[in-house]
Amino acid sequence: MTKFRLGNKERAELVTFLQELVRTPSPSTQEGPLAERIMAEMKRLGFRHVRVDRIGNVIGYVGGDSGPLLMLNGHMDTVAVSDATAWSYDPFGADIVGGQLYGLGACDMKGGLAAMIYGAALLGQEKLENGQVVVACVVQEEPSEGLSSRVLIEEEGVRPDWVVITEPSNLRIARGQRGRVELQVTTHGRSAHASQPALGENAIYTAARLIFGLELLAGQLPTDPFLGPGSLAVTDIQSSASSRNAVPDRCEIIIDRRLTLGETKAMALAEVQRIIAREDVRADVQVTEIAATSYTGYPCHATGFYPPWVIEEDHPLVTTLARAVRAQTGHRAHVGHWDFSTEGTYTAGVAGIPTVGFGPGNPDLAHAANESVRVEDVWTAAEVYARLATELLAQATS
Ligand SMILES: [Zn+2]
Repeated sequence: MTKFRLGNKERAELVTFLQELVRTPSPSTQEGPLAERIMAEMKRLGFRHVRVDRIGNVIGYVGGDSGPLLMLNGHMDTVAVSDATAWSYDPFGADIVGGQLYGLGACDMKGGLAAMIYGAALLGQEKLENGQVVVACVVQEEPSEGLSSRVLIEEEGVRPDWVVITEPSNLRIARGQRGRVELQVTTHGRSAHASQPALGENAIYTAARLIFGLELLAGQLPTDPFLGPGSLAVTDIQSSASSRNAVPDRCEIIIDRRLTLGETKAMALAEVQRIIAREDVRADVQVTEIAATSYTGYPCHATGFYPPWVIEEDHPLVTTLARAVRAQTGHRAHVGHWDFSTEGTYTAGVAGIPTVGFGPGNPDLAHAANESVRVEDVWTAAEVYARLATELLAQATS
């Protein structure tokens, strides 16, 4: 098979499109304008059945009307600009300097969006008859990864046989990630005048004892030979009292708990419950709940639990992707895992669909000032997606 190559005209169009994506702000729950732009581009490139689903995901197809289905999956939302003074480029400028395109979401993950759309378009020219590719640009990944892929698969009936998550991986193959559970611990005390603290029970002191126990626990978490150890971080604390001269009767702690393979939500809850029992204090722990309304008006509810996942190194999806990388780049594919969480937590972790990650951009640049992506890597990713899809669908139907 000859190499897939975007022509010079397509390369230039891809860059212009990516610049427009970066110049269109798309914070979570406000992805509408970006969705409009993406739909227009899919239609222009000849995608079929282009539409917005109930939660606001944009989907479009290339290939035949039946047969095995490969999903390319990327998210449209970005985090907010955290510290504008730390940027030396306009976060919405999409300036290209030395082959790097700068801007909010350039790396995480508008580079991946542009690459998968142009990769599928390149593939469309191949006259795929026995199989199809669906490009899914999903919403609200940053606050609740997997939420919108669940809607796409369970409520919209899109049933892929494989999923490629196009989050930044530096053109390396990510065949798994740790999971995550967000826990809220609430300690209960008794209010009293702060001039007579002995008459009350200080909920902050109780929280402090639990936090000390949590810090000890963080150093003793189980590990997995591939994904590494689980982790625990206390990321927020808030207390409430009737005034600043009253003993607080309530304190809430948030825990970001990363789960390695073999760890479950129940195990993470039980560890915290053991600390509460050992300290013999009045406190409870629960998994947080997320509620939001999408830009289409869809009411979103999710619990803050995202399971870990790993796909075997010799799974045909992984080996075919590795061959596609080698064929397109001339380099042996690096196979590892992601340190962060992605839509794969639903597609692989919940739905059990074979899933793998591969995308342009250095993940270390995500969520940071002066975020950027190498333009050359976006072209390469597009070409790898086209080759992967062709080989995967040919194998499945041969
Ligand atoms: Zn991302």
